Amino acid sequence: MDGAQMTQHELVIVPEGMIADMLTRKSAFDAVENVFAAMAAGDAYNFPVVREAIGHEDALYGFKGGFDRAGGVLGLKAGGYWPHNLERRGLINHQSTVFLFDPDSGRVKAMVGGNLLTALRTAAASSVSIRHLARKDARVLGMIGAGHQATFQLRAALETHGFEKVIGWNYHPEMLSNLASVAEEMDVPFEAVDLPDMIRADAIITITSSFAPTLLAEHVSPGTHIACMGTDTTGKQEVSADLLAGATVFADEVAQSVSIGEAQHAIKDGLLADTDIHQLGSVINSAHPGRISDEQITVFDGTGVGLQDLAVAASIVDAAVSSGQATVVPI
Ligand code: NAD
Repeated sequence: MDGAQMTQHELVIVPEGMIADMLTRKSAFDAVENVFAAMAAGDAYNFPVVREAIGHEDALYGFKGGFDRAGGVLGLKAGGYWPHNLERRGLINHQSTVFLFDPDSGRVKAMVGGNLLTALRTAAASSVSIRHLARKDARVLGMIGAGHQATFQLRAALETHGFEKVIGWNYHPEMLSNLASVAEEMDVPFEAVDLPDMIRADAIITITSSFAPTLLAEHVSPGTHIACMGTDTTGKQEVSADLLAGATVFADEVAQSVSIGEAQHAIKDGLLADTDIHQLGSVINSAHPGRISDEQITVFDGTGVGLQDLAVAASIVDAAVSSGQATVVPI
């Protein structure tokens, strides 16, 4: 937020309906890359996540918060999952809102719609990992998953790296047309494949709600980068534990990776230790070399952290204020 234009007595509101106009994929990418770097440098940290079944409408509700001292961003995302929204109200089932606070005074600064923001910040995370960990000559992108979030991951990945072909597999094959449409829109050929054909991919994004491993070690070539994005809860799993154990593993946040991320299974099986997992931000900061060979398999365990939401929300508020489109309410 531009301090020159905003005062301690004003609250900026950017409603959900304005997010698409205010947030570009480029600004989401930059915000996520910067905040991952700040986390690895020790300048930003996430608070413990709260997630509760509230015993009403079968909803799961919670908070993800954090403080980025370097960026001056303090706040939380509140929201969760209301499984009956679509059928009962015509609303999407995931609902969230971001609140930002002035770290100097504690005054509330902004309220930002969090639904599209979440999809774009998640897409930015796998793209940041591709930028920093995939081989520069990677040409074939493999997609596992074809639901709502998969289309965002695919579009952002195609914008980030010069992939020349997309291959896709999904548990529900009828959904693959979602991927085909995005690839066509981005002018990149798409092919639906069987799982073993993932061996042809140079980079793979997994984005499913699976509770059992889909991608196995025998499906992956040496030198591949894998962004595991679907596993964000205890029990979910997309990739076999031995595949992770044989790879160099990076995460947005190690604590989440070992508890709710893809690494939880390899850790539980004793195949990986938390000290084997590196922060992606340390590669961005050049404190870790990242990929050091064309044969190495790299994995990014993207669990989704509150600071991603806050960083992207802060960039939306900046864009809304500087373009004069923010709703400002006196407080
Ligand atoms: P969605 O319901 O639109 O799509 C679900 C996907 O999972 C589809 O491709 C579906 O075919 C597949 N699937 C369902 N059951 C499966 C099974 N048994 N085995 C294999 N695949 C199966 O959901 P979405 O919004 O696309 O979200 C996908 C996943 O990403 C969810 O697990 C969600 O929690 C997670 N997510 C993670 C982050 C993050 O920051 N890491 C952010 C948003 C969503």
